[in-house]
Amino acid sequence: NVITRFAPSPTGFLHIGGARTALFNWLYARHTGGKMLLRIEDTDRQRSTPEATAAILDGLKWLGLEWDGEPVSQFARAERHREVAEELVARGAAYYCYASPEEVEAAREKARAEGKPPRFFSPWRDRDPSEAPAGVKPVIRIKAPREGETIVDDRVQGVVRFPNKDLDDFIILRSDGSPTYMHAVVVDDHDMGVTHIIRGDDHLTNAARQTLIYQAMGWEVPVMAHVPLIHGPDGAKLSKRHGALGVEAYRAMGYLPSALRNYLARLGWSHGDDEVMTTEEMIQWFEIEDINKAAARFDFQKLEALNGIHMRRTDDDTLLNIFLETLPHLEGGKRLLDRMDEKRKAQLRAAMPGLKERAKTLVELLDGAGFLFAERPLQIDEKAANLLDPDARAMLAELAEEFARIEDWSAESTEAVVRAYAERTGLKLGKVAQPLRATLTGRTTSPGIFDVLAVLGREEALGRIRDQAA
Ligand code: GLU
Repeated sequence: NVITRFAPSPTGFLHIGGARTALFNWLYARHTGGKMLLRIEDTDRQRSTPEATAAILDGLKWLGLEWDGEPVSQFARAERHREVAEELVARGAAYYCYASPEEVEAAREKARAEGKPPRFFSPWRDRDPSEAPAGVKPVIRIKAPREGETIVDDRVQGVVRFPNKDLDDFIILRSDGSPTYMHAVVVDDHDMGVTHIIRGDDHLTNAARQTLIYQAMGWEVPVMAHVPLIHGPDGAKLSKRHGALGVEAYRAMGYLPSALRNYLARLGWSHGDDEVMTTEEMIQWFEIEDINKAAARFDFQKLEALNGIHMRRTDDDTLLNIFLETLPHLEGGKRLLDRMDEKRKAQLRAAMPGLKERAKTLVELLDGAGFLFAERPLQIDEKAANLLDPDARAMLAELAEEFARIEDWSAESTEAVVRAYAERTGLKLGKVAQPLRATLTGRTTSPGIFDVLAVLGREEALGRIRDQAA
């Protein structure tokens, strides 16, 4: 049975690359009917914070990437990491090294001066530990093979060979008894029963070192898949400006979780020519073999276009719920939330078909819905104000009278009135509708004008018209 894992270090937010790693692990677990576990790699006590852990969990939940079981704290497993390190010593695959930090640095400096890679060959690899200096707390180093090569048979990168002469005797346990990242990851992945490791290809060299630990313990090496990192549109490392942000920034920009999942999946994985996919389809189709070997480029325009498609494909009730849940995270959304009541929710719901046609993000949706929440007398923007000349204001006065006679207020009945008025006066429909829109929404763009009339309701609509009528 497949067990994948997502193993973030809680030193910041859940950034977009991490979110994609989590998504791939999640998709593969769901695709195979397996599990995705979550491990918080909090061994670095200086840099790990509970706030960062909370932000990561929150980001995963928002993206809908629910993990299986309880999150595992790596720090809490320190005892077990020590135990395995000592076991490696007992097996002759690792050794206590008593070299002082100064000694190590001096050796590195010397190598550098000689133009060699700054590596340290510990004399304690072959020395009798009974010669250990008193009072020095040793580190434990892995006894890496000096000859041959270590092979990482990667599902994305192919067979990658690392000459062993390049792998040094890296530390697995520090002198204070804490494990290094390299060691803790292996012990945890083994103990958690992880079968597939899908992560960024910045960990590929680590994979070789980690393989040494697996081999020394006689453990099976999990399937590895190192995914090329996400690049910016210019092909360079992803910068903040180009999208290297936490997922909460994407929430605040008004993207739907379903659209971001779709976009992130396509950043590094493909299924034929399919661009727009539901999560169910992605789960059905996700294969590690289809992960791309080339780095993907982040493109905000594509994400935005995809988001617009997802918004239109989301049914109105669901979209309304997502919108309401997202409001606290949108700029100006809290203010709107304070004024939200059942009546306004119903208005929003009624306006949703027209609103979502015109919005690519929830931010744009919020902007488009602004007219529903505006207070009388409305603030009219400059473009809209230009439409309200004296003739238009006189027309509004006539229209208000006609509207007032409507008994059954609806998009249909208001449309009938406007059409009849246009016919009688010989005005083009637009010449009537545009000033009306300016009056009712304060803007020159909005959902269909008859929908706007219907959604606002008789009293509010008539009030807004009379405010501008001459
Ligand atoms: N904690 C590591 C990171 O955030 C990931 C380790 C792994 O996936 O093996 O980069």
